[in-house]
Amino acid sequence: MSNHFFNAVRAAMPEKDRRFADGPGCAGITYGDMLSATGRLANGLVSLGLKPGDRLAAQTEKCLPALLLYLACVRAGLVYLPLNSAYTRAELDYFLADAEPGLLVCDPDRAGNPSMRALTLDGQGQGSLMDLADSQSEHFSDVLRQEDDLAAILYTSGTTGRSKGAMLTHGNLLSNAQTLADAWRFTQADVLLHALPIHHSHGLFVATNTVLMAGAAMLFLPRFEADLVLDHLRGATVMMGVPTFYTRLLAHPRLNADATRHMRLFISGSAPLLAETHRQWQEKTGHAILERYGLTESNMNSSNPYDGERRPGSVGFPLPGVSLRIDGGEVGMIEVKGPNVSKGYWRNEEKTKAEFKEDGYFITGDLGRIDEDGYVHIVGRAKDLVISGGFNVYPKEVENEIDALPGVLESAVFGVAHPDFGEGVTAAVVPKAGTNWDEAALLDALKERLARFKLPKKLILIDELPRNAMGKVQKNLLRLRFKDLYAR
Ligand code: AMP
Repeated sequence: MSNHFFNAVRAAMPEKDRRFADGPGCAGITYGDMLSATGRLANGLVSLGLKPGDRLAAQTEKCLPALLLYLACVRAGLVYLPLNSAYTRAELDYFLADAEPGLLVCDPDRAGNPSMRALTLDGQGQGSLMDLADSQSEHFSDVLRQEDDLAAILYTSGTTGRSKGAMLTHGNLLSNAQTLADAWRFTQADVLLHALPIHHSHGLFVATNTVLMAGAAMLFLPRFEADLVLDHLRGATVMMGVPTFYTRLLAHPRLNADATRHMRLFISGSAPLLAETHRQWQEKTGHAILERYGLTESNMNSSNPYDGERRPGSVGFPLPGVSLRIDGGEVGMIEVKGPNVSKGYWRNEEKTKAEFKEDGYFITGDLGRIDEDGYVHIVGRAKDLVISGGFNVYPKEVENEIDALPGVLESAVFGVAHPDFGEGVTAAVVPKAGTNWDEAALLDALKERLARFKLPKKLILIDELPRNAMGKVQKNLLRLRFKDLYAR
């Protein structure tokens, strides 16, 4: 026994015939099945010559084998690099060049990148990866990994438009998973309704690792749909979601106290949950949503209490073992330090230096305050990040693509309150003199260049961008001017 993270998974594991995960459209598996399937996958990966520390990039649809691939990488000492399936080919090329993975696992539709060794895995969990695994032994001796060794790299976009890979160690994942399982009182009796994507920290680590640390089970849905969730909620005890899940469920006629009476806990994170949504949810279901706060780079930093007041509009208290401070007065930059925080950005010392203080604190980029009772509140983002439906969209990257279109002079991308997505990506666009304005044509052209979640919901024709004396675009004025754009 020698693998820092997987040792703990084994230690927490219930009887092998206990359920691990199942759901509509996927064959259910027990903990014993999980062990043998990840053993076969790990043997298959090693047979390809992949060595401890090598990266494995995965751009797949959500399915159980894709989740097992993550665990197989952990067991084989590989560094797992999950990528949103919405990323275009050009975006994928950037990640591959930066991370230099030894293998890409992707949907058959996306195979055929000549510069890259690739195996396939489709949405049904079939493909050459599984063919390889099927021919392998289920017995695999976990590769020695220490606390400080990398388990995963998760890319988060940068304000300059270039993505940075947050390096997450075995110790990061393990400490946070144990803390969360404890804080949220997970036990073997729990069944987590999993409707989140698994290429992001929320669905991959917060959800899955917490379940594993408790020996609990998962009801694995291919995606979030209010109907699908309500069809399966009966079989669950806990749900984790982004705020959009809650607003959509609230709008559904089948959501009521009866449908949720048996539930133990609803958790929200990845974007601000409106206090109003919190109240409406409590009114309709009787449950107070537990809101927590984290980042890809730090895993989870704070959480509302399991016992005690879950304060609407607040992200709760720093988690045990996490030091959280506000730099710069009553409202200031939130900085965090602890075993949860990543050790920096992959091959990017400059960014690592810029975002970590000398005393080891990570600068989150979020502005916050701590109230008189110790609850942390996020008041805004220092960077101009837009969070739409729980996904981060970095304006600069979208602006670069818009500006490259024929007939466009310049643009400014910003977030506007949106009843469904939390924030809607919005672009003010200044056309070149003499060009005809055609919003639909511009949006069509952007679809080729940007993942769907990054596409502006609206392009606004504007004569000139508001600028301050230093020539900087004043996005605050744009936000103010168009604040009711998506109001119902
Ligand atoms: P990501 O790295 O994709 O997980 O995004 C991290 C960012 O999401 C943080 O820096 C916050 O701005 C935001 N975030 C996450 N959880 C919350 C929350 N509960 N309330 C407000 N913002 C949040």
